[in-house]
Amino acid sequence: MKYTTYIGLGSNLDNPIKQVNDALDALADLPDTTLVNHASLYQSAAMGNMDQPHYINSVAELATHLQPEDLLTELQGIENQQGRVREERWGPRTLDLDLLLYGDVVLESEQLTLPHYGLKQRAFVVVPLAEIAPDLLLPDGTALAELTGLFASDDLRRLC
Ligand code: AMP
Repeated sequence: MKYTTYIGLGSNLDNPIKQVNDALDALADLPDTTLVNHASLYQSAAMGNMDQPHYINSVAELATHLQPEDLLTELQGIENQQGRVREERWGPRTLDLDLLLYGDVVLESEQLTLPHYGLKQRAFVVVPLAEIAPDLLLPDGTALAELTGLFASDDLRRLC
């Protein structure tokens, strides 16, 4: 069975636009998976330590036969391939890939929380996701469209 899943992409180091575009190419090459669509690229201010470059973000829609944990492992493989070094939490990174939603699955295990724990609070997730899935309902019944109005317009700038 194929599941619809959404991946959040973010980068603020080493040519972030190229990092995000390379990651979209890598997502398209995943086994048993199709890249169905992706949002525009957006620029957002860094969370946490503000003394770091702006982020480039996007969201991709995949259709996949991979199980959630296997998909997460593939995402971490792409992060590693693109030179991510895990240091400070919310510190600068070449590439961050988050598994935002996997069908209507709700789960909390040691490696994986679904939906992603930051989904509703982050403009750089909600706005790109709403661009490609405006009618999406989250597993708890929240309409994504209800969340988009909660963010100030200067939280995020759409690039292309
Ligand atoms: P981060 O540094 O924000 O990329 O967090 C990575 C860690 O979060 C990894 O150890 C993952 O196992 C864990 N994690 C839990 N839920 C998720 C999710 N939905 N997507 C990506 N990573 C997750």
